[in-house]
Amino acid sequence: MSSTLFEKSHVGRKGINIPKQSVNDAPKLDASLLRDTKANLPEVSEFDVVRHFTRLSNKNFSIDANFYPLGSCTMKYNPKVQERVGGLAGLANLHPHHITNNQTHLVQGALSSLKTLENNLCEITGMEAFTLTPQAGAHGEMLGVMMIGAYHKKKGNNKRYVIVPDSSHGTNPATAAMVDYDVITVKSNKDGSMDFEAFKEVMSDEVAAVMMTAPNTLGLFNPAVKKICDLAHSYDALMYYDGANMNAIMGVVRPGDIGFDVIHLNLHKTFATPHGGGGPGAGPVGVGNKLKEFLPDLQVGFSEEKGYFFDTPHQNCIGKISPFFGNYLVLVRALVYMQTLGKEGMINTSKKAVLNANYILAKLKPHLKAAYPNQLCMHECVFSAEDLTKEYGIKAMDIAKYLLDFGLHAPTVYFPLIVKESIMIEPTETENIDTIDYFCQKMIDAVELAKSNPEAFKEFPKTLPISRPDETKAARSLNIRWQ
Ligand SMILES: *Cc1c(COP(=O)(O)O)cnc(C)c1O
Repeated sequence: MSSTLFEKSHVGRKGINIPKQSVNDAPKLDASLLRDTKANLPEVSEFDVVRHFTRLSNKNFSIDANFYPLGSCTMKYNPKVQERVGGLAGLANLHPHHITNNQTHLVQGALSSLKTLENNLCEITGMEAFTLTPQAGAHGEMLGVMMIGAYHKKKGNNKRYVIVPDSSHGTNPATAAMVDYDVITVKSNKDGSMDFEAFKEVMSDEVAAVMMTAPNTLGLFNPAVKKICDLAHSYDALMYYDGANMNAIMGVVRPGDIGFDVIHLNLHKTFATPHGGGGPGAGPVGVGNKLKEFLPDLQVGFSEEKGYFFDTPHQNCIGKISPFFGNYLVLVRALVYMQTLGKEGMINTSKKAVLNANYILAKLKPHLKAAYPNQLCMHECVFSAEDLTKEYGIKAMDIAKYLLDFGLHAPTVYFPLIVKESIMIEPTETENIDTIDYFCQKMIDAVELAKSNPEAFKEFPKTLPISRPDETKAARSLNIRWQ
């Protein structure tokens, strides 16, 4: 039943039949525009097409069908009300050129939604202003570090380095390198946090910025974060906050209050919007007073007499980072998500995300080695399959493959890099205890099976169309041609 549409093709079969028209055919295209060979399209019925694509879609793991505990990704439920609003014709059919054509009187509602979102983000993070234009977290990072560069250039500071902890997401050092800084990596201490003494040793006048994720990618909040900010500032280095893990602290702690100068948020993580498989994203960047003047072009302004308008860029504006407003409808969805939660709801969201992760940590800890067993975690918890590998030859990847057969998306494996055979689990606040218990039971089953019959793992997953592809080959020399 899983043949391709080409294999199903039958000469003369049609998807749609319409009666012969009584009007004349449209004039033929100029011969120079016509192809001289047949298009080689499959000839199939409507049902063939509908069933073919429905079957393919059922082969996808998706948040609407499966638990998706990917750590560092925040794969949460996407409320249908926000999809509904995001799809409203008045928003979805807006033309981006309403912006450049000086027709802002036609899009006052859209602009007010952007301004409201910007204000909400400022309130949530404690920053002074936001640009909504970057289209992903990594895009926001790049902008943030470029603005940091502009700040130092304007002050005549001679800076060469960006400091990152060894637990950082790969995009942090990559961004710093792309903006032409040299990267200094600081080791984590035994508690999983960037070690303050080690940090102090590498801090100098030549450091432009320190990039931190808080809580970090181990799901741990560095208790020295304020001290780190203060020390960095004493050298006129700026503090960059990677906000991908905001799901743990929104409504509870504000990076701006701690002392961060610039922050990106991943709206497609913390503020819902499907992003598995690389869907559209939004990575707004917030700044404090040191960086405000460098914000990129396209800021919404408001005055009583003019209503909403586009602000003239500041003379130190670093330019444009995106066409128009990036992924506008992702911004709309994030706004709807925030407004439906409200302030109390948002605080609850963080608390439940943290509670769910700690529940999993406590439940699995007796069975599988926790990377940091003596601490509470924040919104995600990290385990290591190292002991199973040593004793039974079962790796983190084997556990991940096992789970697939039980309708569970695999957790993040082999990241963060500083934990051997790491398995990183983020349940989010949107999963109930039944789902979480089911997941924990399958994890425990996997560990038991590893001990009793490690050979069995070779076969998992048994139920999916593809079981264990050569992943390097699949990435480097993908061949998805039918013939
Ligand atoms: C996801 C993530 C990023 C990158 O964000 P994208 O939106 O995927 O570009 C950066 N840092 C951390 C900690 C992340 O989890």
